[in-house]
Amino acid sequence: MKFIGTRGTQEKKKFSEVILNPAAPEGGLYVPEKLPKIDERFLIRYLDPQDEKTYRHIARGILSLFKIDIDKELINKALYTYLRNFDDPDVVPVVKVKSDLSIAELWHGPTRAFKDMALQPFGVILSALAKQKNENYLIMAATSGDTGPATLKTFENKENIKVVCIYPHEGTSEVQKLQMVTTDAKNEKVLGILGDFDDAQTSLKSLLKDDDFRKTLDEAGMKLSAANSVNFGRIIFQIIYHFWSYLKLIENGEIILGDKIDVIIPSGNFGNALGAYYAKKMGLPIDKIVIASNKNNVLYELIKYGRYDLRDKKLIKTISPAMDILKSSNVERMIFDKFGEERTKELMNSLEEKGYFELTPEELKAVQEDFEADFATDGECEEIIKRYANEENYLMDPHTATAVKAYETLKEKGKLNKYTVAYSTAEWTKFAPSIYYALTGEDINREIAELEENTISDKDAIAYIEAHYDVKAPDVIRELFEKDIVNENVIPKEAIKEEILKFIKE
Ligand SMILES: *Cc1c(COP(=O)(O)O)cnc(C)c1O
Repeated sequence: MKFIGTRGTQEKKKFSEVILNPAAPEGGLYVPEKLPKIDERFLIRYLDPQDEKTYRHIARGILSLFKIDIDKELINKALYTYLRNFDDPDVVPVVKVKSDLSIAELWHGPTRAFKDMALQPFGVILSALAKQKNENYLIMAATSGDTGPATLKTFENKENIKVVCIYPHEGTSEVQKLQMVTTDAKNEKVLGILGDFDDAQTSLKSLLKDDDFRKTLDEAGMKLSAANSVNFGRIIFQIIYHFWSYLKLIENGEIILGDKIDVIIPSGNFGNALGAYYAKKMGLPIDKIVIASNKNNVLYELIKYGRYDLRDKKLIKTISPAMDILKSSNVERMIFDKFGEERTKELMNSLEEKGYFELTPEELKAVQEDFEADFATDGECEEIIKRYANEENYLMDPHTATAVKAYETLKEKGKLNKYTVAYSTAEWTKFAPSIYYALTGEDINREIAELEENTISDKDAIAYIEAHYDVKAPDVIRELFEKDIVNENVIPKEAIKEEILKFIKE
């Protein structure tokens, strides 16, 4: 399989090339030239009682369709992370919550959020490729909370890779921060900056264009790669679990082969949703991919009204911070798939230069054939968290709550098919204070600003929730509160460059 760029292609690339060097020409992204197709026979094979029913087995089957230039042994080694580092034998348990709703949990990996689904195997492949080529790579990650820990975890002590992780000093949950600052791997540096997530991201982007910075990297024999969902190496692993959920629903007797299901995805950068879109294009019987947003509802507006408009939009802080995003990078891959290179360039240039673009009515119709959208306020998420914990015995995090809110709204409007899968993207333990407030109703009208000053600690919130609900935080979370803080460096954003240069010369 070869890869082409969304804004033009100088030369078609192999998978190994696009994961090491993820930036496509003219600021575009790499996409597969052609997606593989499956038919019913492909799915039937996995329903055979004789067939091995593990997540890894199905993952191998799907990856083999892509014919990527990675050895079988290396793929097996990468997929082995699902066995070794995930705490559920199903990897992605599909839990029935209502007669027509199951929740597929994407957070059973080591950092308890959906990012592990792709980053765990991705880290094994990237570092092995770097080693094979005898090259050294620097991965710089700006994080609002989940990408950072997952990136640090997967590259911990890996050869030929160094990681710098930049997070907003006061912008993540306590658990997320502890996951980063307790990292003691020698090849990893964690920098907390005095600023917000946008500052972190903007600083990184300007470094990428800084000649002096690039020259120093060159001299140190370091190349740059990326571990965010701009890298297709992440997307490919985000296709697999959509197949898995479908097969599980058949096995659980919820649907029969051929039934079309709807999937609901808590979305930020659109990488998870793009995985579902590619699965549908490959032939998986999905009807609508429902994009669930929080109050930062740019994706909702795109899918409902066909406009992507950032003029007068300001980022709103919510209790689902991994979705507090205005520039959603993977939308470009969907636009490219539907409307081609010229139109992608036109729309993306308009977004970058004027802060907006608008689809034609025909284009909007084409998008709505595959997508539906909804968004939830913090109050709506809190209500859902409390009601499902008390009435359905299912405790969910605020990101997952946006998806369940979408399920309720669309069901009421008669817009869903016979069966729906909502994706759960984080374990409750990562956002325990928000869940504590949702469950207790304490302080319901508080402002976010107040929340930051006068909040219950993550540890106390976890203890309260464990005492009142039938859940238990896993050891990987409990241990965080006991670990030494060894990688905490809080700096002004102007000092990022110097700190990174110092680190790569070490
Ligand atoms: C990253 C993340 C999302 C958003 O996923 P995208 O692929 O960026 O749309 C949603 N929820 C959680 C908890 C996340 O960590």
